[in-house]
Amino acid sequence: MIHEHRVLNPATEELVATVPATSVADVDTAVIRAAAAQRTWAALAPADRARLLRRFAVLVDEHAERLALLEVTEAGHTLGNARWEAANVRDLLDYAAGGVERLTGRQVPVPGGVDLTFLEPLGVVGVIAPWNFPMPVAAWGAAPALAAGNAVLLKPAETTPLTTLQLARIALDAGLPEHLFQVLPGAGDVTGDALVRHPDVAKIVFTGSARVGKRIMAGCADRVKRLTLELGGKSPNIVFADADVEAAATSAPMSFLDNAGQDCCARTRILVQRSVYDRFLELLAPAVSSVVVGDPSDERTQMGPLISRAQLERVCGFVPEGADGIRGSAPAGPGFWFPPTVLTGTAPDAPVATEEVFGPVAVVLPFDDEDDAVRLADATEHGLAGSVWTRDVGRALRVSRAVRAGNLSVNSHSAVRYWTPFGGYKQSGLGRELGPDALAAFTETKNVFIGTEA
Ligand code: NAD
Repeated sequence: MIHEHRVLNPATEELVATVPATSVADVDTAVIRAAAAQRTWAALAPADRARLLRRFAVLVDEHAERLALLEVTEAGHTLGNARWEAANVRDLLDYAAGGVERLTGRQVPVPGGVDLTFLEPLGVVGVIAPWNFPMPVAAWGAAPALAAGNAVLLKPAETTPLTTLQLARIALDAGLPEHLFQVLPGAGDVTGDALVRHPDVAKIVFTGSARVGKRIMAGCADRVKRLTLELGGKSPNIVFADADVEAAATSAPMSFLDNAGQDCCARTRILVQRSVYDRFLELLAPAVSSVVVGDPSDERTQMGPLISRAQLERVCGFVPEGADGIRGSAPAGPGFWFPPTVLTGTAPDAPVATEEVFGPVAVVLPFDDEDDAVRLADATEHGLAGSVWTRDVGRALRVSRAVRAGNLSVNSHSAVRYWTPFGGYKQSGLGRELGPDALAAFTETKNVFIGTEA
């Protein structure tokens, strides 16, 4: 069994820290403590819970630069992205705090009495987070779960436990009850699995690969445990001939190169209407080559390294030697670097065109008309996000409604906003996170009927 995890700086391969792994027995203890803390937490007046979460947000804001620099070091994120990520945690906490006092049930008209619904907390919630966005993904689960009156046990990815461990310390400093929000670093199949199987963990929120997500779903089935899954994507970026082709081409690179492509919403299948295909590629090539790849702590850098050697090898395995396309540059020497890569002439059913690569690699495929575009867009088991570029409002809405994915954007690439629901169709996930209903996903609806005839 692994007793500790070595955290490496992905840009230099230097050792940053060693972090003790949480054993199955330690998970048991954590659950018992979390359950006790949850009872105290749920008994607080809603206004007091909201106040403590707002204080947590204020302290995250005060520590934002330190958290961001730590994320640059442990995950190789660019400084600009890491700053956004720390600020996103602050905003998620603030937004969730606003929901505590608005978590209302309903009064339902019935004969013979009064009928009320209550949104009760679930108890202890397990959040299993990936390495690609360690802080935001942890907070997508933790902030609404806490706001709805639950305790949270967070299992960060083996490669990126450091920023979330800091968040747990900050929560204590903010005055949240001890053991209410605990971070349990460790191996997925030990610490993560212990959370999935534990009888007193009421819900699992998992973000990561479809392979592990399916395994977790099977583990949860045993106890009919509540489950939210955010899995992979292979999102299309559909460019129609009537679009602003220049804007579509110049914005395409960062839609799949942000976070070195390690983004479940990355627009890695660029579908371009045949009549503008050549012009699009002419405009795309300089836009790809001009992306600044290098030291993630330099404010000018737009793309950093991949997270690990294993991820680098996985990405290399998708890109055939000598394949046609456009390539950017990447530093040589230590670090897990892969250059921005756009492949042309790829078969639409090739693994690189249908499977999640999770690296800075996209394919460009031509299409003929609207039906063809939707057919190609849906030709994958994933259905997380997508973009539609057109000046025709009717077409924008028709195609957005037709594509089987959870998060579409028109003439833009935005996908994840904490105000709006986020999640996948098909094998991209189960359930939704974020948005106005985020807290409800961490509650059970209880119905109480009061007879008035007796
Ligand atoms: P992963 O699915 O193995 O890991 C995600 C999290 O699950 C980690 O915290 C891990 O420790 C935990 N885990 C692993 N096995 C577990 C188990 N049996 N029970 C409970 N928890 C378990 O992802 P990975 O191996 O780090 O990355 C592999 C691929 O997954 C990537 O290349 C990418 O395609 C995909 N991925 C997707 C996302 C996303 O946001 N959708 C995030 C990370 C990885």
